[in-house]
Amino acid sequence: QIFMPLNFLGFVYREIRGSLANIDKLFDLLSQTPAIKDAEDATELTCANPTLRFNNVHFAYNKNRQILNGLSFDVPPGSKVAVVGESGAGKSTLMKLLFRFYEPQQGNITVDGKDIASLTQQSLRSHIGIVPQDTVLFNTTLLENIRYGNPDASDEDIRHVIKLAHLEAFVESLPEKLDTTVGERGLKLSGGEKQRVSIARALLKGAPIMIFDEATSSLDSSSERAILAALRDAAKGHTSLVIAHRLSTIVDADKILVLKSGTIVEEGTHTYLLEQGGEYATLWQAQQREDEASPL
Ligand code: ADP
Ligand code: MG
Repeated sequence: QIFMPLNFLGFVYREIRGSLANIDKLFDLLSQTPAIKDAEDATELTCANPTLRFNNVHFAYNKNRQILNGLSFDVPPGSKVAVVGESGAGKSTLMKLLFRFYEPQQGNITVDGKDIASLTQQSLRSHIGIVPQDTVLFNTTLLENIRYGNPDASDEDIRHVIKLAHLEAFVESLPEKLDTTVGERGLKLSGGEKQRVSIARALLKGAPIMIFDEATSSLDSSSERAILAALRDAAKGHTSLVIAHRLSTIVDADKILVLKSGTIVEEGTHTYLLEQGGEYATLWQAQQREDEASPL
């Protein structure tokens, strides 16, 4: 009974911290009841190595505009699946549906073979680590920002995720190490460092499913390399879904899905899709040209 409100308060807290405490917004949020409720007979999800599956998912935020049109794909246990597509294609929406912020109008999503609508939201969400497109950092220490992913984590756990997120050298370079404050909204950190803090935070949750919604902001080449390495190591041993903007981060994916007009128009490995010479190949060539035009 207490999980739902607690979960909701967590969001309110983050909203407030993130949006510089606008008091009107606080009351707006508090007066909103969460739209999606657990089923009466909801069960607890417990699995260590799940398959994730979207079955014929149709979704629209508003009736007059369909976002997803019968989307089907699966992410086998421990594999890494990437989703690419133009801005507005519905990539971040996939993540919101999986986290059950919204429900599909048709079709369903299963984790470990169970329809997520039949699970408690708390148990579902405890199985998913998210690296969002826009990371919210609090104006406190690096340590506290990472620990936010799991307040009970040991120092050992924290050291481990810092390593996986390729933050070790960065932390070592700081005079106050993990006790360094990150500044208002993490302004003292570069975009790439912020993303890696976000990866460390998500990993600390210890969830079997990891979702990365890659930030769009451009990075310098050393940040790009560090993110690449962090994404690779963080996905290891997890069932992962990567929403990619820089295609260079997903060349190693087990499967790449190209999303267009609410459906998957192409799927396969990087090499296979390049050979096909279709949508993906066009996207790839466009990015190569961009990189040449503005070398990092
Ligand atoms: P992507 O991540 O691929 O850029 P999104 O999944 O964020 O795309 O969005 C898909 C479409 O849905 C966009 O046109 C966006 O404007 C719209 N959209 C996103 N969130 C909402 C919302 N809360 N209400 C209405 N429309 C939304
Ligand atoms: Mg997005």
